[in-house]
Amino acid sequence: MRHLLDSGLAERGEPSELAQWLAETGQPKFRAAQIRRWLAQGRAESVADMTDLPQSLRAGLGEAFQLWSMRVVRHDQAADGTEKLLLETFDGGRVECVLLRDGVRRSICVSSQVGCAMGCVFCASGLDGVERNLTRGEILEQMLQLQRLLPADERLSHIVMMGMGEPLANLDRVLAALGDASHKQGLGISPRRITISTVGLPPAIDRLVREQRNFQLAVSLHAPTDALRDELVPVNRKSGGLGEILAAADRYFEASGRRLTFEYVLLGDINDSADHARQLGALLKGRIALLNVIPYNPVAGLPYRTPSPETQRQFRELLEQAGVNVQFRQRKGDEINAACGQLRRSMARLTTIEPRGTA
Ligand code: SAH
Repeated sequence: MRHLLDSGLAERGEPSELAQWLAETGQPKFRAAQIRRWLAQGRAESVADMTDLPQSLRAGLGEAFQLWSMRVVRHDQAADGTEKLLLETFDGGRVECVLLRDGVRRSICVSSQVGCAMGCVFCASGLDGVERNLTRGEILEQMLQLQRLLPADERLSHIVMMGMGEPLANLDRVLAALGDASHKQGLGISPRRITISTVGLPPAIDRLVREQRNFQLAVSLHAPTDALRDELVPVNRKSGGLGEILAAADRYFEASGRRLTFEYVLLGDINDSADHARQLGALLKGRIALLNVIPYNPVAGLPYRTPSPETQRQFRELLEQAGVNVQFRQRKGDEINAACGQLRRSMARLTTIEPRGTA
């Protein structure tokens, strides 16, 4: 079965599979644009809901294509309003995506791959390696499924590509899906409210520079020296080390004018000492950037631990003294394992909402 979200959205300059099917079945061209509008907004539960299409077309379309391609395996809701979906792809891969409510903000965290090949030692997503890239339709479908959790008068406001996977290792599809998400007729989310989080792959960052799409870039550092980063983020050895990554991030800043974000998972007794804080301060000095420190979120079976509040406070103070703009990430949805890759592994407790049937 072909999936409409992958087949119906136009490729650059090429007619979509849907457009070809419409031509073959003798439908007028404007039907493609009509259907695309439904796809981009995600409001239809099934093809039958596309009420501005003739009944016969809906029937034929429903036979040739499936609208949603992923099954909701699990839907969890935390007391702070965070909701998390565990979705299963048509071929049995599992990915997670999250809706976060913060004041008027409605942010979503979306996955780019089933699993991850980067091998960061503290991260649940990569423990079993990567299975495959998600398609453009599957990335967009996560956004649309999350949008559908909101009441009719609420809209998604922010997207972060911080779910499972490395977005820059699947950049073609990520860019296509983000293009759909920022399209006026789609979710209409401005690129400045879309963040791509990467382990730091310099050639792919340079492609983002050339694309000039002005997304927010977040670079996961996790260590102030290559010796330590080689251990925590194994891909560091292959991707040229901190020097190359920071140089590419600087080029992105110059081209986009967007303040960079650096992420740093704080791991007890591993990268949280006073020396690490000073080295990190020196490394980031002079950059217009935000340092986002994420106290380690425990992953079952891994030997790491979250630093004590006192250690966290000291780490923050030393960075502030070094003039770094630092923020500690608020934890949201803790009880539903809202950090990436955790739910898939642990199948947590808490309120599980009966998944709705997918058409
Ligand atoms: N591949 C992208 C997106 C990964 S998820 C990247 O590396 O940036 C987004 C962030 O969550 C990354 O900074 C990642 O290192 C961090 N993260 C992964 N596992 C974590 C854990 N157990 N606790 C806290 N943060 C974690």
